[in-house]
Amino acid sequence: MKIRQPIITILGHVDHGKTTLLDKIRKTAVAQKEAGGITQHIGATEVPIEVIEKIAEPIRDILKFELKIPGLLFIDTPGHEAFSNLRKRGGSIADLAIVVIDINEGIMPQTKEAIEICKQFRVPFIIAANKIDKIPGWESREGSFIKNYQRQSDRAKQELENRVYNLVSQLYELGFESDIFFRIEDFRKTVAIVPVSAKTGEGIPELLLLTAGLAQRFLTKKLEIDENSPGKGVILEKKKDKGIYYLDVILYDGVIRKGDTIAFYGIEGPIITKVRGLFKAKPLTEIREKSNFIPVNEAHAAAGIRILTPENDKALAGSPLYVIRNNQSKILEQIKEEISSIVFEEKEG
Ligand code: GDP
Repeated sequence: MKIRQPIITILGHVDHGKTTLLDKIRKTAVAQKEAGGITQHIGATEVPIEVIEKIAEPIRDILKFELKIPGLLFIDTPGHEAFSNLRKRGGSIADLAIVVIDINEGIMPQTKEAIEICKQFRVPFIIAANKIDKIPGWESREGSFIKNYQRQSDRAKQELENRVYNLVSQLYELGFESDIFFRIEDFRKTVAIVPVSAKTGEGIPELLLLTAGLAQRFLTKKLEIDENSPGKGVILEKKKDKGIYYLDVILYDGVIRKGDTIAFYGIEGPIITKVRGLFKAKPLTEIREKSNFIPVNEAHAAAGIRILTPENDKALAGSPLYVIRNNQSKILEQIKEEISSIVFEEKEG
């Protein structure tokens, strides 16, 4: 048994800062080279726990808890559409969501939609209250929000409190108790609001640490996997490159190997085929070379990988994907059942 990285998606209303926030998280992590920086996956970015610890160092005297998860795996495409391809039977393979809200605008239609999705799939979420640098009088700077908060004028603090209060009452209307993270006693009952600026990087230490902390505290059972069990994943995207279709897959359990028999759902029904090629993203330092993919013989969950099979052209994005070692008919039955509980649209990249 090992504990895998939780899979994190970023959701929220258009222009509230999803893309900028994910970018800032990446840049902040990359800057921690000595601690390991980030690990690039296909369709996802991994921030190792050592890096999160390093970024959160200034607030570890305030937010004390031990982290045992190996890191966080962020899905690279923020938004509801990618989330809909992460479904599995009875839920989502996303373990946790960060719902980004422009703190100056509050909850908008797609914010509601994002929260509804989380509710429906029972994905716990945390609120990143973004764009605090735009609060009148707020002097935003990179790093800890808690440390920076103490330096603000009374007026700026009041402006922030008003906005947080507004979010809390809007969330209450949607059926959720929430509060700014440092006032929360029971994270099971209360949704955490973390003020951040994706522009300056303020609050990123708190956001990363709390995301890791919550995932570990409430999802440990779900994150415990047998590394050597037959792989399970979902097809995030089907991509065409030089006339060949590739499947970009998020593996959330077990192992997948080159040569494995796998099953997934296709345009004409379930497909059983063989893994001809398996690829991982190149490490960042090698990114300038021609191809960003390197062939590998196996991959362990959680990971974003690219798969080549003779049947890729028929695959459906959003389909579950299973490695079959035995019990072929049982797995086919499972896939059929699983698919019938999911509505599909075919998308091609
Ligand atoms: P998305 O549609 O949710 O992915 O939003 P984007 O990340 O594209 O951001 C929308 C706009 O808001 C862009 O012009 C960003 O530069 C800007 N933006 C995002 N985050 C912040 C922030 O924290 N502060 C400020 N001032 N602008 C931001």
